[in-house]
Amino acid sequence: MSASPTGPRLSVIVPVKDEEAAIGPFVARVGRVLDGLTEPDGAPLAWEILFVDDGSGDGTLAAIMQAHQADRRIKALSLSRNFGKEAALSAGLDNAHGDAVVPIDVDLQDPPEVIGDMLDKWRDGHEVVYGVRRDRQTDSLPKRMTADLYYRAHNWLSSDKIPEHAGDFRLLDRKVVEVIKVMPERNRFMKGLFAWSGFRQAAVEYDRAERAVGTTKFNYWKLWTLAIDGITSASTVPLRVWSYLGALVALFALIYAGFVFVRTVLYGADVAGYPSLMIATLFLGGVQLLSLGVLGEYVGRILVEVKHRPIYVIRQRIGDEA
Ligand code: UDP
Ligand code: MG
Repeated sequence: MSASPTGPRLSVIVPVKDEEAAIGPFVARVGRVLDGLTEPDGAPLAWEILFVDDGSGDGTLAAIMQAHQADRRIKALSLSRNFGKEAALSAGLDNAHGDAVVPIDVDLQDPPEVIGDMLDKWRDGHEVVYGVRRDRQTDSLPKRMTADLYYRAHNWLSSDKIPEHAGDFRLLDRKVVEVIKVMPERNRFMKGLFAWSGFRQAAVEYDRAERAVGTTKFNYWKLWTLAIDGITSASTVPLRVWSYLGALVALFALIYAGFVFVRTVLYGADVAGYPSLMIATLFLGGVQLLSLGVLGEYVGRILVEVKHRPIYVIRQRIGDEA
């Protein structure tokens, strides 16, 4: 670990979208926690907070500016529009200076006090220290159930296992950050990228609080989209499963054809069988459309990747002229 003598040791990166009311409380609480952290020799730990303003339409940037004027260790990038949380996190990782980087949400659902424990594990030699929610009581039952289902599906389909109920709140060593930075894909499903990168990982448990101010930016549709992003970027099983299903259906069709043939030879033809014909046609039509849709998902993603557009566009930097 190369401790840069002048730069910060620890960067906290915070994606924000329309969170003007949350900036003040966040800076107050996290600043207090970070000021309490020390190097192993007792010296105060050098830190920075890097906000990534993800196309906010309210006074978020002004609130950050105010915080920056009071404390120069608080910096920001402002993106040219809303690129989504995963892209905002990428922007933060690309521009953080610390030897350790901690992404955290602005809503204080993840207690910043845990960062101290993460640092300890980092100093013990772990390159990734992720926070695991002890229980998800603060999430609604449907959210918990769908999250559970998602983690299972993802880890079943993909060989890069993502730790269950670990959010983006984690500590990443500079080495990991450098790996994530050179990953070329436009689809930035962060948990998947973290999982792929490997390294020595450790977990710290914590209780997730209710959102302090404001409301969630993720409705079920957005979560669903995120889930599709996660699975399609980590696994090709959904693409391949259709050949097996197709083979199975063909096999059944063959057996059934034999049965119909024998029956016709023995008992002659009759015109019955309209319902079974209808069912078979509709079922196969459905399966074909479904598999086409899956194909479309992947083809669409290939299109996005080959266009090779930037993941985000920075409109303005506050505090880091570099
Ligand atoms: N966020 C963002 N861009 C978006 C949506 C959300 O940067 O398009 C930020 C948001 O401001 C917050 C974090 O991502 O800091 C997590 O959002 P939220 O708390 O709404 O998600 P939840 O905790 O409900 O999953
Ligand atoms: Mg939240």
